[in-house]
Amino acid sequence: SAPLLELRGLVKHFPAGAGTVRAVDDVSLHVAPGETLGLVGESGCGKSTIARLVMRIYQPSAGSILFDGAELARADRARMQMVFQDPFASLNPRETIGRILEQPLLVHRRGDAAERRDRVAALLQRVGLRPELAQRYPHELSGGQRQRVGIARALILHPAMIVCDEAVSALDVSVRAQVLNLLLELREELGLTALFISHDLAVVRHMSDRVAVMYLGQLVEQADRDSLWHAPRHPYTRALIAAAPRLDPSAARTPRALLQGDLPSPIDPPPGCRFHPRCPLAQPRCRQEAPALRQVGAAQVACHFA
Ligand code: SF4
Ligand code: MG
Repeated sequence: SAPLLELRGLVKHFPAGAGTVRAVDDVSLHVAPGETLGLVGESGCGKSTIARLVMRIYQPSAGSILFDGAELARADRARMQMVFQDPFASLNPRETIGRILEQPLLVHRRGDAAERRDRVAALLQRVGLRPELAQRYPHELSGGQRQRVGIARALILHPAMIVCDEAVSALDVSVRAQVLNLLLELREELGLTALFISHDLAVVRHMSDRVAVMYLGQLVEQADRDSLWHAPRHPYTRALIAAAPRLDPSAARTPRALLQGDLPSPIDPPPGCRFHPRCPLAQPRCRQEAPALRQVGAAQVACHFA
């Protein structure tokens, strides 16, 4: 079916002193209706910039974002909602949970006072919270409860799509699985389309149908989640998998081949393949020629030697 979200040649550059931060550099991808696309990579690879471009918090330097077949417009704001990393920072501390959840309904003029109250109570229950919490303030809630409020706020307008940026990274490990499973249930029940962003490949794999791997502003590999996990083709994807925490310790372990060196600066990305300074397979050609993303079996890979 036609994609619900499509990025075409998306570019976002920020001026930085004498240079330019190439935060997102020619990224094309799509998300089909009902699908969850995972976007994974180290912090600083451009994932959050993509989230902000999709949410129209940033304007692209070049390229386009299509939503439901048309250029993304302000009118789509209600149909696409975001779940943020830090629910505490994104919830107004001076407003009750009930007010916070009612706000989008007021802004978009949905329902009368009684209908809004009912919607807030029903949604609180749906995300596993007691409706009485509507009278409380964010600081009176635990981190997990606050993130459930963040999810409820994202869902209150019945969006077609949600963008989750490190939605569980700030939570204790014990709470993380509960929130992830809540998101999976809601996705199923509401037929949501999702862009699920995280630095943690194990989490992304748990949540996604397909996975796109980013490195220094570009996609290096894209495949369905199982082929990506079991038959990674890009050396960076292999390193991410080797470094990912195992959810199932009995599974055969990939030898730990951790990356050499730190992530280079996106201000002056390395020439040729941006991964070459850290790649165990780099050849002289990799220093000069940037590999294009191409189809290799069931995956799309940007490596000369995949
Ligand atoms: Fe490594 Fe070269 Fe492939 Fe880049 S193109 S990932 S440097 S082998
Ligand atoms: Mg980020």
